[in-house]
Formats: sequence, structure tokens, C-alpha cells
Amino acid sequence: MKKVLTFLAFLILLFSMASCMYLETGIDPEIKPFIDDFYKEAHKRGINPGSVVTAQFAEMKSQGRSVKASRAIYINQDSEGWKSNPEALVFHELAHLLLDRDHDNTRIGKFYKTIMANDGDPLYHRYEGEHFHYRREYYVNELFNPQTEPAEWMR
Ligand SMILES: [Zn+2]
Repeated sequence: MKKVLTFLAFLILLFSMASCMYLETGIDPEIKPFIDDFYKEAHKRGINPGSVVTAQFAEMKSQGRSVKASRAIYINQDSEGWKSNPEALVFHELAHLLLDRDHDNTRIGKFYKTIMANDGDPLYHRYEGEHFHYRREYYVNELFNPQTEPAEWMR
């Protein structure tokens, strides 16, 4: 009996360690609508990106992260990007993962940066929220085609 209890205690310890060590897999339902829209926008442009296996929230210093080896993206739920511009953040990570895009801090016009910018304020490419929605078309075009001409409002 004592051996069985020891073994059970060992199993419990093992499982609790495993749950700390491994991030969850699968697609989080809060992130999924943005992923669906990414594919919708890609298909509109005749682009067929590969698949995402994991999209989860995770604690980290950066706003997000993508891991090609496991086809995963991770989103920082406490980040300014997730709070004010969640689609752009998810699209940015998916572009690393599926469109081979690297960071690009090129300035566009006087105030703006590409959706792949990573040096500071995520609001350089803000397009969500009622006052900024007119910018979305440009940023989604630029996501799939970095050669997109700057929009009128950026000049
Ligand atoms: Zn990035």
C-alpha cells in the first residue's frame, strides 16, 4: 500500500511539473477569429499560407512571438498591442510564421511604420478602433505585399 501511495504521489508530481513546463497547444478561441480573418485576406489575394498549429496566450516581455519549428504563435495578453490593436498583433506574428516576413522599421511618411515594425510604440501602425479603421486596408495590403504604395493619409 505504501508503495502504491508513493507511486501516486510521484505521478501527481510529474503531472504538475509537466503542466508548468509545457505551454498549451491548439488555437485559443479568443485568437481564432483573427486567424480566420488572416486566411480570408490571404485567399482574397490568391495567397495560400501554411497552417498554424498553436496560437496561445503566454507571459513574456515582448508582445508576441512566433516559433516556426512548432508552427506556433504566442500572444502577450497584457501588451499594448493586444489591448488596442489585437488583429495587427496576430497578423504580425502570423506574417513571421507564414509569410517569411522579418521585422521592418522603415518609416512611412512622417509618422507611420510598417505592420512589421518592432521598435517601440505599436501604435505606429495602429488601425483598430473607430478612429483608425480607415487605415486597415493599407496595413493589410502591406502585410501581404511589402511593396504596397503608401496611402494618401500617410503623406
Ligand atoms: Zn515581430
